[in-house]
This record gives sequence, C-alpha cells and structure tokens, in this order.
Amino acid sequence: MSRGIAPLLARRIRSSANHGTDDIDRTLWDACVVGSGPGGAVAAATLAEAGWRVLLIERGAYRPADQLNFRFLDMPMRLGRLDVTKGARVALHQGNVLGGGSIIWGGVAMMPPGFVFDEWAHVSEVDSITADSLAPHYAYVAKTMSVTRQKIEQENRSNAIVRQMAAALGQSEGLELVRRYTRGCRGTGLCNIGCGFDLKGTMANSFLPTALETGNLTVQTECEAVAFDGEQTRSGFRATALHVVVRDVATGHRISRFAIKAKAFIVASGAIHSSALLLRTRAFDCRLNTRKVWLQRPRGDSIPGQAV
Ligand SMILES: Cc1cc2nc3c(=O)[nH]c(=O)nc-3n(C[C@H](O)[C@H](O)[C@H](O)COP(=O)(O)OP(=O)(O)OC[C@H]3O[C@@H](n4cnc5c(N)ncnc54)[C@H](O)[C@@H]3O)c2cc1C
Repeated sequence: MSRGIAPLLARRIRSSANHGTDDIDRTLWDACVVGSGPGGAVAAATLAEAGWRVLLIERGAYRPADQLNFRFLDMPMRLGRLDVTKGARVALHQGNVLGGGSIIWGGVAMMPPGFVFDEWAHVSEVDSITADSLAPHYAYVAKTMSVTRQKIEQENRSNAIVRQMAAALGQSEGLELVRRYTRGCRGTGLCNIGCGFDLKGTMANSFLPTALETGNLTVQTECEAVAFDGEQTRSGFRATALHVVVRDVATGHRISRFAIKAKAFIVASGAIHSSALLLRTRAFDCRLNTRKVWLQRPRGDSIPGQAV
C-alpha cells in the first residue's frame, strides 16, 4: 500500500485555493468521473492506468492524513456531509472528501457469502457474476488496499463487550474476526470518523496515488456536479457536457461555474447523489426500460419522472 499522496503528486489535486479552473473547461477529457469514493476512484485509476486522460471531480476537499484528529465534533462534518430530504424525513451522512466513504467509514472488507451469489443467479437471473469470476478482482483490491484479517489482540473495548455478551448467551461460536482494509490497527474504535493514525487502505492510500503517478489523472476537489447536457438516444442517454460549481469548502461560497466536456462520463457520487444528479438532468429520461418511475413527494402526491 502506498503511504498517502506524496507532496509532488498532491500538486495534481486542484482545489479552489490552489488553482484556477480555466484549463479544465478548455480540455476535452477522455473521461470525467464524478465522485472519488471507492466507485469513482477505482474507475478513474483503472482508466488512467490504461492511458486515458481522466478528470476526477469531488465535491469535498482533500484532507491529508495530518488533518485527521479523532475529534468527534469536528471530523464527521469535515470529512462528511449531512443532507436531509424536504421535511427532514431522511437524513443522509455521506463521505464528502477526496476518497469518499473509504476515508470516513469502518474499513471492514467483507466478501459476500455464497448465498448472495446464489440469490443473484436464481432470483435476479444475474448468473454471469459469480464468486469465482470475482475472485481475482477481490484479490487485486485486497492487495491494493492492504486487506488483512484482524487479530484478537487488536480488539477494542466495544468489541470485547460484544464478545462477552455473545459468550454469556452461548453464541460465541458464530463470532469471527473480520477482514479490514488496514495495515495494522491501534484499537481506538473511532474508525468512523477517519483514522488519525492513517492506517486505513483508503483511496488516498491505494488507488489514487498510483493513478496520479501515471500523469494521466487530474483531480479537482470542491467541485460539485450539477447536471448534464445531453440527449436521449435510442440506446440511452448520451451526455455531452457536465455543469459543475466550484465552491470554497469552508464558506460554501460559489467561486466559479462552468461545463466540462469529455468523451465519457462516469457517475459515481454515491447511491443517492448519483441518482440525484441524473434526475437534475432535464434531458435524462428516468424511465427504466418501459416502466415509468414514480417518485413520491413528501406530502404524498406522485409526479412522474421528476426530482423531488
Ligand atoms: C456508517 C457507514 C459505515 C460503513 N462502513 C463500511 C465498512 O466498514 N466497509 C465497507 O466496505 N463499506 C462500508 N460502508 C459502505 C461504503 O462506505 C460504501 O459502500 C462506499 O463508500 C460506496 O462507494 P461510492 O464510491 O459508491 O460512494 P462514496 O464513497 O459515498 O463516494 C461518493 C463521493 O461522491 C462525492 N459526491 C457526491 N455528490 C457529488 C456531486 N454532485 N459532485 C461531485 N462529487 C459528489 C461525495 O462527496 C463522495 O466523496 C459504510 C457506509 C456507512 C454509511
């Protein structure tokens, strides 16, 4: 695992503070990737390593490891962002930082058990993706992100209590030490606010530095995708440009707004925000196959195919 992003490579990470954005909107990129979590960073790295000129945009800032401090009232909002739906019915706290959820969440690296693949094959008829076909990919990711099985000596107080409870209930047989993407662990139990010891194999410690080394990857942080320009074709939606806003992360003030042109776009801004980005795109027809997607407004009246 790389030890973070070296200072020379960090120059390729643009932010509102250190660069203008003029050349970014004048370039026709081979690919533009939205979101730098495990989905976006791995896609961007794979393409950059294959020789594509890639622009990766991320809404949050780059937070080098020395900015992670285990402070409980500071880190969740510095590394994450809390969004609520209208009426505050649903709250979503998501990674909002270069590296996305890999920086802020637990670091547990589980492989789905066999019954998940069986269900995909039998219920959903997805039989081309199997445990065997994914095995080399799991192995590659595990190596790149330093996935290791935890040791009992690394168990923290909370887990020790769970183990005692399980033993008291006579259920300790089913407990196993999980695999995590860490190179060691100090047992603080505070993984969910970022690791101040920088022991996680986050995107910033694995895929991103390698991709930056190729010289093919440019990263623009504090840059929020707003909506696509494009057209609906017979084979699907074809994006031609992506409108983005660059903001000062500290104040939220808008610094610039422009459109990015690329031959291909990859939307990897998380489960909710990927959908939200497509729904904000006027020309995008959110009917899936022939079924109309109906979205509920908080008060209950349904509207076809529009963002709420
Ligand atoms: C509390 C919690 C704990 C978890 N623990 C684990 C764990 O231990 N192990 C594990 O494997 N998984 C864990 N997960 C799940 C894991 O975090 C996600 O599966 C993973 O982060 C998804 O990756 P992603 O790239 O799709 O999205 P994300 O990691 O969410 O990345 C999306 C990125 O897109 C950015 N973004 C959003 N909107 C825009 C926009 N409009 N423009 C530009 N950028 C945008 C966001 O800032 C973010 O950085 C946990 C999740 C939660 C909520």
